[in-house]
Amino acid sequence: MRPLTDTLDVRPGEPVDLVLRRASVLDPVAGIDGVFDVVVRGGEIAELSPPGEAAVEEAETVDAEGLHAFPAFFDPHVHLRVPGQEHKEDVETGTRAAAAGGFCGIIAMANTSPPISTAADVTALREQARAGASVPVGFVATVTVDMQGEELTEMVELREAGAVGFSDDGLPIRSARVMRRALQYQRLCGGNIALHEEDPELSGDGVMHEGPVSAAVGLSAIPSVSESTMVARDAALAAHEEARIHVQHLSAAESVEIVRAAKAAGVQISAEASPHHLCLTDEEVRGLDPWRAKMNPPLRGERDRQALIEGLREGVIECVATDHAPHQAEEKDVPFEQAAMGVTGLETAFAALHTELVRPGVLDLGLLVERMAGGAAPFGLERPTLTPGAEANIALCDLGAEWTVGEDGYESRSQNSWCAGRTLTGRVQMTVAAGRIAFRLRSFTLGVAP
Ligand SMILES: [Zn+2]
Ligand SMILES: [Zn+2]
Repeated sequence: MRPLTDTLDVRPGEPVDLVLRRASVLDPVAGIDGVFDVVVRGGEIAELSPPGEAAVEEAETVDAEGLHAFPAFFDPHVHLRVPGQEHKEDVETGTRAAAAGGFCGIIAMANTSPPISTAADVTALREQARAGASVPVGFVATVTVDMQGEELTEMVELREAGAVGFSDDGLPIRSARVMRRALQYQRLCGGNIALHEEDPELSGDGVMHEGPVSAAVGLSAIPSVSESTMVARDAALAAHEEARIHVQHLSAAESVEIVRAAKAAGVQISAEASPHHLCLTDEEVRGLDPWRAKMNPPLRGERDRQALIEGLREGVIECVATDHAPHQAEEKDVPFEQAAMGVTGLETAFAALHTELVRPGVLDLGLLVERMAGGAAPFGLERPTLTPGAEANIALCDLGAEWTVGEDGYESRSQNSWCAGRTLTGRVQMTVAAGRIAFRLRSFTLGVAP
């Protein structure tokens, strides 16, 4: 088994020796479901012992009775805002937020100031991650130079420098000719091309989803076809070039349908959905609160939300991705039309989906756990697992814990959480990432088990 740190970068730390006593262990992909003592030795899952039987000498012991141990989560879509917008987030705060959300790895987007377009940019960021990241981070580089949509970056060289893939996220790749060329290079150099799908001609100056709600509140709107036509174009191009694409933040029912058909036809296509698109609809926009309801793609209708949930269930959408997009108050405390697009989500992703989808019986817990870690594979990384012998990547959760988002502040430097003030059920108590303890909830005291 290949550890995440073979490819991703993290601050060096002491490999942990740990016993999680009597944890409810659930790793559906590995076929593990039961109460065990989880023994971590030297940063690796050493064994899953019958409850209460693991020897505990020289290992920290956590009373995990009643708590769930899952494979830690993997987020393929995070905005760390470095370089250039460190007032919103940086490698340290962003990866602390990830650890607090139970993530053992993330992929950072390249739409920074300036964008990540050269091998030197990638090298500099990897050094920053080795200096200050709490969890392993991978970096994508842009597809086109400075995200101008015209000239391709040196994709082969960027891969050699360690870019896990490519993305102009924040912007679509407008030109089909440029997209086609990018796919030809992707086939050569591997990685993946992650796509923010939107036709700027159709989105115009829209600030929300086009539908009855936009008509009622009188805001300019972004139709679903702005996304779905581009997903269709790129699925066709990927098929033609036998290249690999990853569709980011799927939001519309029509897009899910296109990805489903493309997969059935054998296209190398993967897709993600964000917790806010899975939990909210455009009804949320009626309050005209840009802190919670303004993002791109916009929150869509209930039919779209149901299609995303069904896509997640079927595996048409293989992973949850937060699209964690930190912004400061000056970009959000303005009229809805002018506010920046984007919400944070790392610290609340699992809790929100557990509260909104698992507890009401819409989604199976095991399926959510599987999809929360599903974002590694599209980038050629191994899925976190609790299988003995694997690097320890564990999210220890209390599924009964109730908490109000934001009441204790955030690990993120920004506060634009889409679920601020909501009471959620289920909370990450501890995260082990790359064999090190990356996070402990402050109120979670390590019990000395008998
Ligand atoms: Zn995007
Ligand atoms: Zn994004």
